[in-house]
Amino acid sequence: MKIPSLCRILLLALFILQSGVFAQSTQELVKLSKLNSNSSFDSIPDVVIDANYELIEALAGLNIPEIVKNKLELVSVYYYGFDDRIHKGQVIVNKEVVQDIIEIFDFIRETKFPIKKVVPICEYKWSDEESMKDNNTSSFNYRFISGTRIHSMHASGLAIDINPFLNPYIKNHVILPEGATYNTTQRGTLTANSPLVKEFKKRGWTWGGDWKSLKDYQHFEKKINSDSKSGK
Ligand SMILES: [Zn+2]
Repeated sequence: MKIPSLCRILLLALFILQSGVFAQSTQELVKLSKLNSNSSFDSIPDVVIDANYELIEALAGLNIPEIVKNKLELVSVYYYGFDDRIHKGQVIVNKEVVQDIIEIFDFIRETKFPIKKVVPICEYKWSDEESMKDNNTSSFNYRFISGTRIHSMHASGLAIDINPFLNPYIKNHVILPEGATYNTTQRGTLTANSPLVKEFKKRGWTWGGDWKSLKDYQHFEKKINSDSKSGK
């Protein structure tokens, strides 16, 4: 079939335009994927700064043993928000898992898995409930497992909660945070088939979505030594 020449020109123009856009976004992705989370994206225009603390500031006023404090590190992480822009956040984790966290956030960024925000919980006055309600991804929080006097894996920075409002804690009829629902069709939600869940598991992390007595879809933890207790 003969396509009129004007049409052909238009099609060609469209093709060139599309390739240009594709090449640009690929280039951008390659550039971003080469930078790990230790690198600074701050010079890239339009980075949304979600958190910009020093470790000492983020832990200020918190009464925690020196031995716990000395194991912590503040890691800057870069990810796409739900607005499709690059965000800078920060997560306080145990030094033993820093490399895992850097690699996992590189994966999160490369696959454009959207993350609402990653801000140390000091911004929520150490309230896990408030942080979860705000869909904030976080790790270190010197607290007990809900309803017990056992320190959570979060108290040693060996657990992380991802997009908690979208990936709630569910036990019988209790859903936390309040008002959350688990709708696996939403972007940013985790299921057993999520590539991100597999990335964590590959590095020896346990996912709360696999637990039987309760489900904690936001939660990942890594056992480093025998005195760590499992749980939210
Ligand atoms: Zn958790």
